[in-house]
Amino acid sequence: MLPIPRSNIQSIRPYKPGKPIEQVVRELGLKGPVDKLASNENPLGPSRLALAALRKELRNLHYYPEDSCYYLRKRLARKLGVDMDSVIVGNGSVELILFSCLAYLEPGNELIMSIGSFIMAKIGARIMNARLIEVPTHEYTHDLERILEAITDKTKIVYLDNPMNPLGTMVTKDKLNEFFEQVPKHVLVIVDDAYAEYITARNYPKSLDYYNANHNVLILHTFSKIYGLAGLRIGYGIAQPDIIANLSKVRLPFNANRAAQAAALAALDDKAHLTRSRKNNEAGKKVLYRAFKQFKVFYLPSFANFVFANFPVDSRVVFEAFQQRGVITRPVKQYGFPNALRVTIGTPVQNKRFVKALTAIMKELHGEGQ
Ligand SMILES: *Cc1c(COP(=O)(O)O)cnc(C)c1O
Repeated sequence: MLPIPRSNIQSIRPYKPGKPIEQVVRELGLKGPVDKLASNENPLGPSRLALAALRKELRNLHYYPEDSCYYLRKRLARKLGVDMDSVIVGNGSVELILFSCLAYLEPGNELIMSIGSFIMAKIGARIMNARLIEVPTHEYTHDLERILEAITDKTKIVYLDNPMNPLGTMVTKDKLNEFFEQVPKHVLVIVDDAYAEYITARNYPKSLDYYNANHNVLILHTFSKIYGLAGLRIGYGIAQPDIIANLSKVRLPFNANRAAQAAALAALDDKAHLTRSRKNNEAGKKVLYRAFKQFKVFYLPSFANFVFANFPVDSRVVFEAFQQRGVITRPVKQYGFPNALRVTIGTPVQNKRFVKALTAIMKELHGEGQ
């Protein structure tokens, strides 16, 4: 006999991360280069300023970090024009999604999200034994009107990833403005802006406006994407001080480590790294679009650093064919898309290898069909 976990825990399907390069090389015995285009990491790597700060911090690793993340929060508060009390740092921004669930969801409360949104909120709702309400998307993005209609007295959290992951689509400023005008005050709206720093589109909402207008919003950002620090696990949230205080109550001590705090602080100053990363992303996006078009693979124009592509066959087949050729992509079955892959935009060389692999795979697929 074994101890029995809570029934809602039994229903959780664990988060499936992208495969690490080491594992793929080990399992397939690949000899050539392996490109990981599976987890939306920055293909240009971390900022050099972050690396220098990190190296300097290493000699202090025997000390616990500053629990309050004082310098990082101060720097973020200044950059964003908010009070330090309105900023919280997490062990990755996923941790802040979990904190929101821990702090706000009673059993039987509701969390609303879109079908095809980033999966962490779903896991958080399940952990808390809350009701998960999944609303279908409209034209591949959040259907904000239907989300508003789905809100009840029991709704505590609405989770909006903008852009959506894995779809890469976004809701516009006008639409989100309208949503915030109508959303009831008892609801905490999480706006997850994990890819915001990549976006130049003018109609992309400025989430800080909703914070400044005193809405009950938690804005999430991460250092894992454009800042290239996914391996250190650090992200941050902005909300009214009362909300931040509640999230802080469920936080474990020292949740953001010393190395991560130092590197994140330095990364914020590396404007050149951000510009380079954004440029690389825009150029790479076009390369991927062109290839998908050429082979008539359905894809969604993306506002992030990845492209959602839907193949004519089960994505498992395509995923494995890519993997054999040293390209790790991400099947997104868990999100309800059995034929789709999410492909992170790489360096020019990586994109080229991706297109070469795609060309070979599509030829094989068409060959089999004849
Ligand atoms: C990648 C991603 C995150 C994860 O961020 P971490 O800071 O690495 O935890 C959060 N939200 C969305 C929508 C993402 O795509």
